[in-house]
Amino acid sequence: MFESLSERLSGTINRIRGRGRLTESNITEALREVRIALLEADVALPVVQALIQRVKVRAVGQEVMKSLTPGQALIKVVRDELTNVMGAQASDLNLNVPAPAVILMAGLQGAGKTTTVGKLAKHLKEKRKKKVMVVSADVYRPAAIEQLKTLAGQTGALFFPSESTQKPVDIVRAAIDDAKKSFADVLIVDTAGRLAIDAEMMAEIKALHAAVTPVETLFVVDSMTGQDAAVTAKAFSDALPLTGVVLTKTDGDARGGAALSVRYITGKPIKFMGIGEKPDGLDVFHPDRVASRILDMGDVLSLVEQVEANVDREKAEKLAEKVSKGKKFDLNDMRDQLEQMQNMGGLAGLMDKLPGMGQIPDSVKSQVTGKEVPRMIAIINSMTKKERRNPDLLNGSRRARIAKGSGMQPADINRLMKQYQQMEKMMGKLGRGGGKGMMRGLKG
Ligand code: GDP
Repeated sequence: MFESLSERLSGTINRIRGRGRLTESNITEALREVRIALLEADVALPVVQALIQRVKVRAVGQEVMKSLTPGQALIKVVRDELTNVMGAQASDLNLNVPAPAVILMAGLQGAGKTTTVGKLAKHLKEKRKKKVMVVSADVYRPAAIEQLKTLAGQTGALFFPSESTQKPVDIVRAAIDDAKKSFADVLIVDTAGRLAIDAEMMAEIKALHAAVTPVETLFVVDSMTGQDAAVTAKAFSDALPLTGVVLTKTDGDARGGAALSVRYITGKPIKFMGIGEKPDGLDVFHPDRVASRILDMGDVLSLVEQVEANVDREKAEKLAEKVSKGKKFDLNDMRDQLEQMQNMGGLAGLMDKLPGMGQIPDSVKSQVTGKEVPRMIAIINSMTKKERRNPDLLNGSRRARIAKGSGMQPADINRLMKQYQQMEKMMGKLGRGGGKGMMRGLKG
């Protein structure tokens, strides 16, 4: 995500980072490069102008020129202003109304509206412990109603059925009544989209809005459309009192023009971003983290949250205790570690969030992503309990048997055993004292 913008900006920034002294002229030069990078990323011109202006005022002031590390100070200013232009703070959904809190979804066809309804249902259920009902008012596309029904099934949301012969306003009124009876906390309303903005669609969604008075009206827009996303969002926002924007498909958006333009052009906060097609492909939009990611400073905060959510604390503590007592790290422990890694979406998901990863070519990243972890787990699963506890037993003939059992080559088994030996050695060192602090860290 945002790779191409990130690559351009981090190039400029690395040149300036180590400078002990900055002059007005090399600041101007750096800002010229930042400006070009933003324009190439399809950021809307008024946004680029405002951003550069704000950075310039601060950059030639005391804060940067007089700083002991002017390069770093300039980067901080750029980061702050990128954050500000995206809305500074993450903004949550407002659900503080008598149940059901109605969320109305608007957007063009193909933007990812229905997919986002599914993702939001999952998010509200898991992160905010809400009982969620979904309904489709898209009477023009029976397939869209079916799609929503499937998503509701996958995410455990209640589904209120609708028919293409009904009127959208009637459907939603009936859904609200049903949501009340079912004690649903939230009702998410999917609506019809068109390929482009047209008067009829606007009139329909305005009527829906007036009839159901939603607490949140979210505009869903495809980030791949760059600054056009901000233009469409503005048109909707002029017609409807939007409370926020969901930016979809950011996983495929290398440029970031939409992320940087939407807030400034519409005045509405980006509340979520879509990061994949699956129901869990949704992140709360944190402007500061996205700014850090764009500057390739890594998204360490999201990483920490992801680890918190997925690491099995009990297992981690057991391992820490085992290692600190000097007991042997065996293949069972390695499998636990691999499984946890898999839970976190494999190395691929983690790598994108680490500082400096923007510099690593995709061809290299793909080698450590993908299928490696499940393959390693499959190999360990083909061992006997005794072998997992005593890896020294694994001689040539046992390795050949395991290769056969797991459908791998003997070389794969040897590679895994080498990785195991390295991990075991590292754990041994930790146990002998060197890493006590680190283990304590693990225990939290
Ligand atoms: P709608 O017409 O606005 O309801 O759009 P859909 O929800 O049917 O989505 C259109 C397409 O975009 C589908 O193929 C989705 O899988 C895909 N999509 C939606 N959100 C995302 C996302 O965040 N990332 C990716 N990669 N694809 C997405």
